[in-house]
Amino acid sequence: MHDIVVIGAGPAGMTAAIYARRAARSVLVLEAVSCGGQILNTPDIENYPVEAHISGFDFSRKLHDQAEGLGAEFIFEKAVEIRDLGAVKEVVTPKNTYQARAVILATGSENRKLGLEDEDRLVGRGISYCATCDGNFYRNKVVAVVGGGNTALEDALYLADLAQKVYLIHRRDSFRGEETTAARLREKPNVEIICNANVTRLIAEKRLKAIEITDKLDGSLRTVELNGLFIAVGRIPENQDFAGLVQLDEAGYVLAGEDCHTAASGIFTAGDNRTKLLRQLVTATADGAMAATEAVKYLRETEQAYTDSLLRSWGGVC
Ligand code: NAP
Repeated sequence: MHDIVVIGAGPAGMTAAIYARRAARSVLVLEAVSCGGQILNTPDIENYPVEAHISGFDFSRKLHDQAEGLGAEFIFEKAVEIRDLGAVKEVVTPKNTYQARAVILATGSENRKLGLEDEDRLVGRGISYCATCDGNFYRNKVVAVVGGGNTALEDALYLADLAQKVYLIHRRDSFRGEETTAARLREKPNVEIICNANVTRLIAEKRLKAIEITDKLDGSLRTVELNGLFIAVGRIPENQDFAGLVQLDEAGYVLAGEDCHTAASGIFTAGDNRTKLLRQLVTATADGAMAATEAVKYLRETEQAYTDSLLRSWGGVC
């Protein structure tokens, strides 16, 4: 029995483990793949306070070492179910069932991909899913953004102030994102909007060199030479295994406010898998701190109920 099981060893989950251990609570972190999550794909983090440059790999390793050094236990198994038994929660993996009094869901989200050949290989070599993280590498260069939601529009605006030229490529002729942002983009002299078009091929050697765009109306092909392609076609939160327990919004994010409480008592959430305005490393670690602090408060408040439930299961012996 642990005080807290954290599901997911990304920046949010590992920060939660640090805060929970510093509050002297026992913590098990379950991770399906490898510590760090999405941030492992970022070659150079430039926007995390204090460290001007750090690779995603080094950031994750340091965070893991800090959490483990404080006594957090890490097990590499994928949590596939949470059973809420009231004072006790069971977290089920294909191999084991772990018990805890509180659970923090820090499962993150993954980038929706275009599904093009070489897309994975070129991440960090011309392809990025995060303009705020990687835009600075494309100062005075030519870039394109794919997508028509708020993220794509805001990414294109952000990049327009850095890059020499920004193409915004959207598969329809009206944007899903806000019209005011689209209007600001249309005023930018270095932004070219290409509607009713799909990126259909990545042209690369070691790095991305150009993209092929197919016009959806007449099928014509166009090749655009560029240095960077920012793919902003939405994200897929990794919450489906827990949908029956916590409430999700239409897009699949756990409904939770800044206090990181979910609809289920004793189950908290932190990081990119919850509803929030800004999904960044710094907001993920902030969530980890908040979720752990709230979980510790919950443990304190439910101590008596938990002891009573133990006594009941032991036949009332006192
Ligand atoms: P989104 O709203 O789901 O938009 C995804 C965009 O990508 C859509 O325009 C979609 O086209 C396009 N798309 C999806 N799959 C595609 C594919 N395979 N090929 C080409 N295009 C594809 O995602 P988001 O922009 O990341 O935003 C997610 C949520 O966060 C939204 O609720 C958004 O409002 C919110 N958000 C808010 C702010 C803010 O308030 N400042 C900033 C960013 C995000 P279709 O339109 O044709 O479906």
